[in-house]
Amino acid sequence: PVPTVAVVGRPNVGKSTLVNRILGRRAAVVQDQPGVTRDRIAYDAEWAGKNFSLVDTGGWEPDADGIGAAIAAQAELAMRTSDVIVFVLDARVGVTAADEQAVRILHRAKKPVILVANKADSEKQEADIAELWSLGLGQPRPLSALHGRGAGDLLDDIVEAF
Ligand code: GDP
Ligand code: MG
Repeated sequence: PVPTVAVVGRPNVGKSTLVNRILGRRAAVVQDQPGVTRDRIAYDAEWAGKNFSLVDTGGWEPDADGIGAAIAAQAELAMRTSDVIVFVLDARVGVTAADEQAVRILHRAKKPVILVANKADSEKQEADIAELWSLGLGQPRPLSALHGRGAGDLLDDIVEAF
């Protein structure tokens, strides 16, 4: 079996856009409404001659325990079932309470976690993400999933992490 890469993060940070960027086609559903990806959906992906299974996540609604509990469950599932975790946050919004909760869980991951600051559409926004080092997940990777900026470097990091 090929390695599994899970893309996790809050609704609306651009997970599905990133998955489409990696696949090079519009397979994952992108919407302005959060929670559009109904389930964990796995796609066959390839980069630099390496095949892997790319899992888009989402599809949960904040329940009685709030959005933080939902994202915690998502992070825990990703830790159990994937070889590499891509944790996406919105560079424009910065770190939210839900992000912090997910990060606390991801610190326990025995798998590589790649921290992605998406929606870094410009050089200026790229510079602003340096503060994300403080999350303790290593180097934050700037990305514009929408425009493709940083996508090649991120893919190099992903396949190196297998
Ligand atoms: P998901 O809920 O995390 O899967 O997020 P989506 O991929 O559905 O994207 C949510 C919204 O963010 C959509 O309107 C996307 O077009 C937008 N978006 C995604 N990536 C970027 C990006 O790199 N830059 C900008 N400006 N918008 C983005
Ligand atoms: Mg989605």
